[in-house]
Amino acid sequence: MIPFWSICSRLLADPDLIHKAAEDRLEETRRCIGSLNCLSRLFRDLPYTCTMNPALGHEVEPEYHVTAAAFKKKIMVIGAGPAGMECAITAARRGHDVTVFEKAGRIGGNLAAYADNDLARPDDLRSIITHYEVMARKHGVRILLNTEVEAKFMRSVLHQYDVCVVAAGAGMDRGAMRTVEGHEHLIDVLDVAHRRIQPGSKVVVIGGGKIGLTVAEYLKKNGTEVTIVERSKRIAGDIKPSFKWRHASWVEELGIPCLTSSRPTKIAREGVTVVSDKGAETFVPADMVLLAAPREPNHQLFHELEWMIDELHGIGDALIPRGLEQAIHEGYRLGVRV
Ligand SMILES: Cc1cc2nc3c(=O)[nH]c(=O)nc-3n(C[C@H](O)[C@H](O)[C@H](O)COP(=O)(O)OP(=O)(O)OC[C@H]3O[C@@H](n4cnc5c(N)ncnc54)[C@H](O)[C@@H]3O)c2cc1C
Ligand code: SF4
Repeated sequence: MIPFWSICSRLLADPDLIHKAAEDRLEETRRCIGSLNCLSRLFRDLPYTCTMNPALGHEVEPEYHVTAAAFKKKIMVIGAGPAGMECAITAARRGHDVTVFEKAGRIGGNLAAYADNDLARPDDLRSIITHYEVMARKHGVRILLNTEVEAKFMRSVLHQYDVCVVAAGAGMDRGAMRTVEGHEHLIDVLDVAHRRIQPGSKVVVIGGGKIGLTVAEYLKKNGTEVTIVERSKRIAGDIKPSFKWRHASWVEELGIPCLTSSRPTKIAREGVTVVSDKGAETFVPADMVLLAAPREPNHQLFHELEWMIDELHGIGDALIPRGLEQAIHEGYRLGVRV
């Protein structure tokens, strides 16, 4: 027998699930990914929302309905992460002609790296990317992989488009580490998360937020010695309430030391010197130091494109680095109105 809650959450994520099953269109389903966003909101007495279903709770608002566009536009979307794909597919469903430009060789953006490192539900997270592949094909969204958009490229294509959507995500803010001695030894955590760089055997992760924690847990589970250094009093500051406990218990179970209220002062080949808010200095031996916070969006791209196109929009982490829910919701909300 299927438990009641299980059916319930699946229908929050995709209210058309039963119809899709009856019509043999199950590959079009938006799967519940167990993100617990719905529960986090309920526990705070807020109307619940669903990571996967941006229209949940807004069903009676016409602004959230997918309706035929009054005027068919040619839309370019920069970035095939969840924000870009959600926007592209929603806009294409309304009749727009949409092309996505993606500099990597795969779609999914940082969601793909999240799925590759998550210990609890990698298949659920990957199902979002499969869903986007299916829906992009169904609605005729063109996806150009290995195609980076920068000012020069933009000048050569801009006459073909009415709208440009910047969904290029965010990277790590290396500038914030400029004052730390030896900051040039820092490795971007996203390079390890995307498997572009092999991790060391003894790693320090600077930043105990969602990205740092996910990668640290994955590395530890797979045999790497890991220490987390976090500026705040507690780890998991940017993680939704119903998920904090999960990371806290993984960190404990896996035995990952966390130096909280601490920041790095010197990075060398042999390790990191860390100082606490109380002034205590600790040396942590390491053969690799990963920068996992803070994050910064590529605002330069916005500035470069500003005078090149009639309509310019920004969504997801490209606006403010946050998470999956905001990326999907902003992509959808722009897609239904653009
Ligand atoms: C390890 C890890 C763990 C995470 N854990 C969580 C979590 O627990 N909860 C949560 O909510 N979120 C988590 N996230 C964050 C989440 O994945 C991101 O917030 C989300 O992917 C943002 O979506 P986006 O579409 O805005 O940007 P992205 O997913 O970053 O996609 C941007 C895309 O744009 C492409 N691009 C960039 N510049 C250009 C250009 N000039 N031309 C063409 N293409 C370009 C990039 O290659 C990328 O594919 C995690 C991320 C990682 C890496
Ligand atoms: S918010 Fe997350 S857990 Fe809740 S129904 Fe949606 S996808 Fe499932």
